[in-house]
Amino acid sequence: MKKVGVLSLQGDFAAHGAALERAGAVPVYVRERSQLGEIDGLILPGGESTTMLKLLRYENLFDDLAEFGRRKPMFGTCAGAILMARDVTNPAQESLGLMDIVVERNAYGRQVDSRVVDLDPAPEFEKRTAPGKLEAVFIRAPIIRRAGDGIHVLAEYAGDPVLIEQGRHLVTTFHPELTKDARVHCLFLEKL
Ligand code: GLN
Repeated sequence: MKKVGVLSLQGDFAAHGAALERAGAVPVYVRERSQLGEIDGLILPGGESTTMLKLLRYENLFDDLAEFGRRKPMFGTCAGAILMARDVTNPAQESLGLMDIVVERNAYGRQVDSRVVDLDPAPEFEKRTAPGKLEAVFIRAPIIRRAGDGIHVLAEYAGDPVLIEQGRHLVTTFHPELTKDARVHCLFLEKL
C-alpha cells in the first residue's frame, strides 16, 4: 500500500491523516527530513502558512520539500496551497514555487472569511472520481489570482479556481479533509 506523508509541523494534519485512511492510504506524519525517503507523496495541510514557513526553516526542511516536490506528488490545502505557489501576496512571503500560481492570502476578507459551499466540480473531476456536488469548507482562504497555462482547473467558486492540478501536484484553497467526501484525496492517491 502507498504511504502518504502529511507535513505535521502545524495545522490540521490529523484531519488529513483521517481523510487518507478513509481514502484507503496509510498516513505518515512527517516532522523531519529523514521521513521524506519513506513516502510516495506528501500533503501540506491547512493552518497558518507564515508559522509553517518558520517551522520549515527551523527544521531545515524547506529545501528538502522543494526538492521532494520536483520528483514526487504533493497536495496542498489552503495554507499548503500558499506554500506551493510561485508567488504570494498580502503580504508577500517565501514559497516553494511548485505550482505556477499567484495567490493572495486571506483574500475573502474578514467578514466572510469562513464558509461552507457546494461546488459543481468540472465533469472531468466527476469522471475521474465519482459524480456529485463537492462540499467545500473555506477558512480564511487564499484566492488564486493568476494561473499559468500549465494549470488545470477542476473546480471553481465565484469564478476563481479552487481545485487545480499541475502535472503531479494538486491544490485546493478549501479543506476537503474536513468533510466526509474522500474524492479529492482519492484523486491525489491516483497520482502516486
Ligand atoms: N490564512 C491562512 C494563511 O494565510 C490559511 C488558512 C487555512 O489554511 N485555513 O496562511
